[in-house]
Amino acid sequence: MKIGASVLATKDIAIERSLEYFDSNKYIDYVEIIQQYPYREIDEDEKLIDTINSYDLKYTIHAPFIDINIASLNSAVSNTSVSEIKRSVDLANIIDSDIIVVHPGIIGFNGRGKEELIYKIAEDKLKDIGDYAKDNGVNACIENLPNIIDFMYVDLNLLEKTLEKLKLPMTLDIGHAHTAGFTPDEIYFDSVKHIHVHDNNGRDDTHLALGEGTFDLNRFFDIFAKNKYDGIYMLELNSIDSIEKSIEFMKNLNLI
Ligand SMILES: [Zn+2]
Repeated sequence: MKIGASVLATKDIAIERSLEYFDSNKYIDYVEIIQQYPYREIDEDEKLIDTINSYDLKYTIHAPFIDINIASLNSAVSNTSVSEIKRSVDLANIIDSDIIVVHPGIIGFNGRGKEELIYKIAEDKLKDIGDYAKDNGVNACIENLPNIIDFMYVDLNLLEKTLEKLKLPMTLDIGHAHTAGFTPDEIYFDSVKHIHVHDNNGRDDTHLALGEGTFDLNRFFDIFAKNKYDGIYMLELNSIDSIEKSIEFMKNLNLI
């Protein structure tokens, strides 16, 4: 079982130090780097890149998502969002990663009632990002978003339909799916190439340690194992404490 953890858990400490922790945790083989402030220009920091490449860890990249909206009705914003996300494809090649996680967009206040147009913009931009990623040997895995007003592709079936059309892979976020009422039996798709793992109470996207919320994780792991999912289970949690609790939880399920 491939287990990783997001640097979200160590957001208050420098990445160099956080890598020491991830490297020292024998269950974690993958680290997901979030490429936004203060690490937007990570690709230009040769010393940091050398440090990242010096560890016996493998990496995935979460493309930027704060202030980013590929589905914006403002074409300057949507185009800039696309080019910011493409920077993560470039970074992937620098640190030998083949997965980037991409958020598919938000409906702005002025977009209500114009959903059809906005989903069309999102699709066009996802295709652009996906083509660029494919040309560079990277999987741009598009993530289902949490059930928060104006967030797009909360509905996994809609995301799956779009990704089938665009021939793009999915990042399945099980916590986000739980906030939208999906059960483990409703979330397996062949397009899933990457998974964000965390728990919550079924309403708020709180990124709790596994077992601290109400998602049926036993059933989830069972279904993905039966379907021979061989990607990474990426713990997307808010603290090292939550990572350790989640690893304990997985040990208790005899998964590791
Ligand atoms: Zn996520």
